[in-house]
Amino acid sequence: MIQPVLACLDLEGVLIPEIWINVAEKTGITDLRLTTREVPDYAALMKRRLGILDQHKLGLPDIQSVIAGMRPLDGAAEFLGWLRERCQVIIVSDTFSEFALPLMRQLGYPAIFCNRLEIDAAGRIVNYHLRQPDQKRASVLALKSLQFRVLATGDAYNDTSMLGAADAGVFFRPPEHVAKQFPQFPVVQTYDGLKEQFCKAGPLER
Ligand SMILES: [Mg+2]
Repeated sequence: MIQPVLACLDLEGVLIPEIWINVAEKTGITDLRLTTREVPDYAALMKRRLGILDQHKLGLPDIQSVIAGMRPLDGAAEFLGWLRERCQVIIVSDTFSEFALPLMRQLGYPAIFCNRLEIDAAGRIVNYHLRQPDQKRASVLALKSLQFRVLATGDAYNDTSMLGAADAGVFFRPPEHVAKQFPQFPVVQTYDGLKEQFCKAGPLER
């Protein structure tokens, strides 16, 4: 039997810019620039981010106002449209639905699996809730158990278990040190490159 193809895409760094880097730039808080590209331990990274937000008295509305001014990466919407014509697509992201919504609107509301924030009445982000541990990998394994052939792409440490679990995993514009640590995944720098890899690995029609 030929298995239907399904693509799992990371969000930040693949379809949209890094949200936290944009927040760092808009607020001038350089400590918020760190992302999963530099810090492999996501829990430590999030704890640090929430501490910094508290220190500067920034809440969800402040971050949402930064996100409202963000746009998908150049070519992202076209790429996503191309892919959705050829296979099922699910965005699998470690971001939060409260952050992702304005950008999902701009991308035509693709399916997305992500996490949730816990906000108090004053808008302070008091905690975050991961739906499950290592949800990127768990999502791929679940989808494979539904008899899909799963392709995956991402750019950072937190994508590597997803890329490894997929039938084919591709790095999209990863930092050099991450690509070097995981030489088993092909690296592409453009959406055309990603189309080419997915067409080959799917196979998908050109
Ligand atoms: Mg990413």
